[in-house]
Amino acid sequence: MKFPEIISAALIDMDGVLYDSMPRHARAWQKMMALQGVSTTADEFFLYEGMTGPATIDLIFGRELHRHPDAEECRRLYAIKGKFFEEQGEPEVMPGAARMLRELKRRGVRCILVTGSAQRTTLDRLDRDFPGVFAVRDRITALDVTHGKPDPEPYLKGLEKAGTRPEETIVIENAPLGVHAGKAAGLFTVAVTTGPIPREAFVSEKADAIFHSMPEFAEFLKTRPL
Ligand code: MG
Repeated sequence: MKFPEIISAALIDMDGVLYDSMPRHARAWQKMMALQGVSTTADEFFLYEGMTGPATIDLIFGRELHRHPDAEECRRLYAIKGKFFEEQGEPEVMPGAARMLRELKRRGVRCILVTGSAQRTTLDRLDRDFPGVFAVRDRITALDVTHGKPDPEPYLKGLEKAGTRPEETIVIENAPLGVHAGKAAGLFTVAVTTGPIPREAFVSEKADAIFHSMPEFAEFLKTRPL
């Protein structure tokens, strides 16, 4: 684990990094899929995390129903899933997330949000929970990309927004597919294992550094020389 000497920008994932929202997403996915007669496990949605909603629906429908829904059906099903997510109430801010952002800002690191989500209710909370960190123009969401994670496109777009050199730009992720996307974009990629996925999955995706929790990562940043 050799961090870049200079970190100019951090491209930061949202669910499972800034918010403890993944268990709610998994439950919402399961419930929506059950309505379609498709049985799934909660844990599998942690593996798909990072993919856009339509890509997740297409994957599961292809596997379980042997058909591929069109864009309209994907939109409709993703909206149902979003409603089931919201019904569970607002997720907590991930412990350690605010501290991590404080440490990054203290070092003058530019923070860009790079999420596979299009969940308005969570995106709209960012300003309230992390004031002044993510300007609206500094966000890449599911609506800004053609190919979601594990494709490198979201992180390449984030890099372009940051306007920083790739070797001075890091990715902060909690999902194996997100780590894959960060590495495919050629960036130093930090994995924080905040969910049920075992560490080996992040080793397989060649994460450059692995932390067990956000407080652990925030503490690491704090002790790094400026
Ligand atoms: Mg995530």
